[in-house]
Amino acid sequence: MNSATESPRRFLDCRVSESAIPDEPREKHVLGLSGGRDSAALAIYMRQHHPELNIEYFFTDTGKELPEVYEFLGRLEGFLGKEILKLNPDRNFDFWLKQYNTFLPSPQTRWCTKQLKLRPFEQWLRPMLDNGVNVFSYVAIRADEEYREGYSSKHGKLVIKLPFKEAGIDKAGVLDILDASGLGLPKYYAWRTRSGCTFCFFQQKIEWVRLREQHPDAFEQAKAYEKSALAHGSPFTWSQGESLDELAQPDRIEQIKRDHARRLDRLRSKSQPNPLRTDHEPLDIDDLYGKAKVCLACHK
Ligand code: SF4
Repeated sequence: MNSATESPRRFLDCRVSESAIPDEPREKHVLGLSGGRDSAALAIYMRQHHPELNIEYFFTDTGKELPEVYEFLGRLEGFLGKEILKLNPDRNFDFWLKQYNTFLPSPQTRWCTKQLKLRPFEQWLRPMLDNGVNVFSYVAIRADEEYREGYSSKHGKLVIKLPFKEAGIDKAGVLDILDASGLGLPKYYAWRTRSGCTFCFFQQKIEWVRLREQHPDAFEQAKAYEKSALAHGSPFTWSQGESLDELAQPDRIEQIKRDHARRLDRLRSKSQPNPLRTDHEPLDIDDLYGKAKVCLACHK
């Protein structure tokens, strides 16, 4: 495991044992942090507006996170004055990769989210729910986002709450919360606006180029995974239509950067300045390339 993927031991390592269950309160409030902007802002918002709730903050660690994510969560812990529970999958990325015949995860077969994000969450919650605990899960869907099916709970004792939607808090509101708290944005915002795994296949090509510049070791690791997957017959490359080897050719990098700059110019020339924010609202990668079908567990 290289420095880009190492998990510092500063967070509480969480393995829920059956013996802990009898002491569970009858009601539990949980808030999942992705390492991204919106869920962090929601944690701050809940602490400020609902201090009466004893919220358990948790982070599902795939073991393939950016170091900036741990740094951001560490600062958030400081603000919250509370440890963020770290849910470790019982099996790591490499185990599941083997189970899936060395096929890389892809938008078509998203085993990574299922096994490394949702499974540990379910394993953590299941004993509580089975024990009759009512669990309230706070999710950072903003007022300017669509509420998509799939976020809803399929368990009667699990209630999904959307405080930003209820309070009409949009992207500008989220930025204000982060600014006002002093937490600011995660450091990876300087080169990538989406949270999630170091080598998430939802990344745009410009994000791969920047990953290569910012974390060359992680890029090389992603390349090695891809080579092994292709050698085992996987039809998927990390980035659609080309291998990372091809994407990393100097001409191709220049082309990707030019295309990105053009998109940026086009969008900036169309966008109305927000008179309430002199620092300009940062453009997200989705503003430039369209909304990818990402999920809350990874990218909020
Ligand atoms: S961030 Fe991307 S690679 Fe990681 S679990 Fe989510 S979808 Fe999979």
